[in-house]
Amino acid sequence: MTLKIGTHVSIAGSHVKAFERAKDAGENTFQIFTGNPRGWSAKDIDEETAVAFNAAYKKYGIDEVVAHMPYLPNLASPKDEIYGKSRDVLIREILRCRKLSIPYLVTHPGSHGGSGREFGIARVAEALTGALAAAEERAGAKTPFMILLENTAGTKNSIGGNFADIADILKITDETFPDAVGVCTDTCHAFAAGYDLTTADGFESTIADFEDTIGLERLKVIHLNDTKGDCASHLDRHEHIGLGRIGTEGLKRVVTHPILSKRIFILETPIDDRRGDKENIAVVKAMAGEN
Ligand code: MN
Ligand code: MN
Ligand code: ZN
Repeated sequence: MTLKIGTHVSIAGSHVKAFERAKDAGENTFQIFTGNPRGWSAKDIDEETAVAFNAAYKKYGIDEVVAHMPYLPNLASPKDEIYGKSRDVLIREILRCRKLSIPYLVTHPGSHGGSGREFGIARVAEALTGALAAAEERAGAKTPFMILLENTAGTKNSIGGNFADIADILKITDETFPDAVGVCTDTCHAFAAGYDLTTADGFESTIADFEDTIGLERLKVIHLNDTKGDCASHLDRHEHIGLGRIGTEGLKRVVTHPILSKRIFILETPIDDRRGDKENIAVVKAMAGEN
């Protein structure tokens, strides 16, 4: 079985260049920001770009692309202005994904800013269902598309540091949009939040916890990252595959697991003088027994 694997690639120059960058690094899937990740606004995607992007899937032999929300939105914010703006960005990103035939949009649940877990969970769920409803109205048609909630490193006030947070959000969104919200699990974030992925026991109990709370069928994308921080350190510092605290053995369990190995793997690893995307991709393929 061939792994579905790619990295987060740049759209610098044009959206279509992302396909080229991914292909050059040996990838058969990839993740992008659809616009500037550091701003609230985004330049419209024109028709020409959309047509070229849609044609590129076939040309490059890539079936699925993943999009990631920009950094500024906070879907759990207690401040109405920030919350409203965040939901608007989510609606915009859903519509951009549809235009580019991107089936998955990854988002962090956000931070409740001291207003409490229950508040935060209800707030995120409301943002998701509200955005899905609004986007549906504007697009006029239903296409296969899912928002994926990403687990976080579990820093103070953040929602999603544990699987129960995500499960509780899904319970609410399932009432109106049962098939439109799934999960993306980041190995660096899970480890930073306290899930010990370095031992066989730790890995098995993490999987069991996920299965009991969320259910593995809801997991669509795995952000496969090693990390510079310790277990339960709440530090979000990605590291090259096998060179960090999770290490080769720990990450190998993830990519060779009978269920997890069928999911989409996206690496958000650094690019520096030690390695680039191509090298990290090759390391993971070797771990899985490919090539
Ligand atoms: Mn993320
Ligand atoms: Mn991630
Ligand atoms: Zn991270």
